[in-house]
Amino acid sequence: MNDEFLELCNLDTLAIRTGHSRTPEGEHSEPLFNTSSYVFESAADAAAKFAGDEAGNVYSRYTNPTVKIFQDRMAVMEGAEAAVATSSGMAAILSTCMALMQQGDQVLVSRSVFGSTSNLFGKILVKFGIDVVFVELSKLEDWKAAMTPATKMLFLETPSNPLCDVADLGALSALAKDNNCRLVVDNCFCTPALQRPLDLGADIVVHSATKYIDGQGRCMGGVVLGNEADMEEVLGFVRTAGPTLAPFNAWVFLKGLETLRLRMDAHCQNAQKLAEWLQKQDAIEQVFYAGLPEHPGHELAKKQQRGFGGVLSFRLKVSEESERRAAAWRFIDATRLVSLTANLGDVKTTIVHPATTTHSRLSPEEKVEAGITENLIRIAVGLEDIEDLIVDMKRGLSAL
Ligand SMILES: *Cc1c(COP(=O)(O)O)cnc(C)c1O
Repeated sequence: MNDEFLELCNLDTLAIRTGHSRTPEGEHSEPLFNTSSYVFESAADAAAKFAGDEAGNVYSRYTNPTVKIFQDRMAVMEGAEAAVATSSGMAAILSTCMALMQQGDQVLVSRSVFGSTSNLFGKILVKFGIDVVFVELSKLEDWKAAMTPATKMLFLETPSNPLCDVADLGALSALAKDNNCRLVVDNCFCTPALQRPLDLGADIVVHSATKYIDGQGRCMGGVVLGNEADMEEVLGFVRTAGPTLAPFNAWVFLKGLETLRLRMDAHCQNAQKLAEWLQKQDAIEQVFYAGLPEHPGHELAKKQQRGFGGVLSFRLKVSEESERRAAAWRFIDATRLVSLTANLGDVKTTIVHPATTTHSRLSPEEKVEAGITENLIRIAVGLEDIEDLIVDMKRGLSAL
């Protein structure tokens, strides 16, 4: 493979062609190296590789050729110098923090992050002397006000789950640079097909590859991307502590990356159509999707994203506070095509009641603050025919 020639290619091509150097077998598809260790030529070769004097594979907790293809391809797609794959999205976030922070450091975390991410920071990392402060994602002045000399990292997801709030990555990266700390962006919802945070000034991107990168709900995995020096630290943690990506999962993700752009465009189209249809229904109070011009994040999303993504949410019109949960549950239970599951990023559309599932850990006050009302429903729009999805939404509405 000619790397110099590839450098001139576009994302669609890179997603298909990067990373694989054909072995002497002449295979066309990327090979799956299911091996835990590697054999040395001689005792001297083993010694040199163990000492790090010579490059080469030693053990699959350190390096694996299939995992390396996935890392190289992700790095090219995100515009990063290097990538480190991990066993899950949570392992990517944990590894980033363990590698790049220490006792006494402070991290500012968006209040609207994935539930386990919030627990990782707020319940686990705090036990190790990391000071965690939660801030409002789209309020730049909140991030500014929370900054102290101890702040070493800003952590966020944009657009947010499930209300699609959008953070200004350019402004936040400038703030991070002024304060000599890193901006870390969980780019799971957009993927590099729709948003490249490093181009907008972020220092590190993390992914749950479990979602759109796989795209068909099969494997768990994650990846961290950034500059060489930072990724050396992250790899140091991963190869020592062991949240390593399995080669089989890396191979599945490689196949996923080949169709990522096509799938993301199709997710965006279906989500846009569904959002517009939902908005017209009398029984629906409000739809949250940045592709709608009324959404507060619309203009910013248009500027920093190539598309608005596949996740949307909406509130049912229910006047009685006490009736809201029952109405949302009736809607969900009346659907037949969409899957009632908390996963997203799948070709299969999923539906969930955030207040009693993904966001159930929040206190009643926190739910109000985060906009997670009892009449809110989240949909991760898949790639089924949009007409069939609309029929299913009608089933939900008719149960109200
Ligand atoms: C799912 C998810 C994660 C966690 O990833 P896992 O692969 O489930 O560990 C992190 N961030 C976001 C935005 C997610 O949706």
